[in-house]
Amino acid sequence: MNRRKWLQEAARYTAGLAALGFSFRSLAQPNDSDTANPTWLAPNSEPLKPKTMPFELPALPYAHDALEPHFDSMTMEIHHSKHHAAYVNNLNAALNGTPHEGKSLEELMAIISTLPAAVRNNGGGHYNHSLFWTLLTPQTGTKPSARLEDAIKEAFGSVDGLKEQFAKAAMGRFGSGWAWLCRTENGLKICSTANQDNPLMDTEKANCGGYPLLGLDVWEHSYYLKFQNRRADYVSAFWNILNWELVSTRFESGQ
Ligand code: MN
Repeated sequence: MNRRKWLQEAARYTAGLAALGFSFRSLAQPNDSDTANPTWLAPNSEPLKPKTMPFELPALPYAHDALEPHFDSMTMEIHHSKHHAAYVNNLNAALNGTPHEGKSLEELMAIISTLPAAVRNNGGGHYNHSLFWTLLTPQTGTKPSARLEDAIKEAFGSVDGLKEQFAKAAMGRFGSGWAWLCRTENGLKICSTANQDNPLMDTEKANCGGYPLLGLDVWEHSYYLKFQNRRADYVSAFWNILNWELVSTRFESGQ
């Protein structure tokens, strides 16, 4: 690996870690209007720290019902405390006693093609959901930064154009998976992955590579209680509670 390549890899890794840290700082240091009404922060909130095994279920940075009426309380509770918890537990079990115990999630994603399916499914599940929770916010009406909006306009014409193409990716994913907006060397890109795969996985370089700025879970467990078969309505609801400030931070600090 030459020096330039090494620097790129190091920057990508650092950015991945920073993004997880940044994501919480933006919630933990709310602006003035939030300080006046901080009740949406769950009392057990703690920084979402990048870790190696044993991985832990991060606390939600808001109460289960904080995203009502857009995402419902029961879905948030089950999705976080049952589904995500299972990915964490199964990931730890799959890594236990292997040479990969000391690797971060990002390091695991980068060599996922060489690892067992249990690591791929549960490691992807842990990464994807950890990111997903921080992408949601009770503060409706957040906006992309000027630089991110410029990149969105260049790639999709407008924010509405992005939403239209993102919805197509989310609706076009047959069965379970995720829709993503990624930053790539050629600008922003929308794509989707199956199961718990994500753009950081070496298996996704051709289909859905790059640095994930935002991801939407389109497994039925993420919307069926409230929306039943209406995945399109769930995708629409997502935009109301997307934390564009965090997406902008990921865009500015990403690779
Ligand atoms: Mn899920």
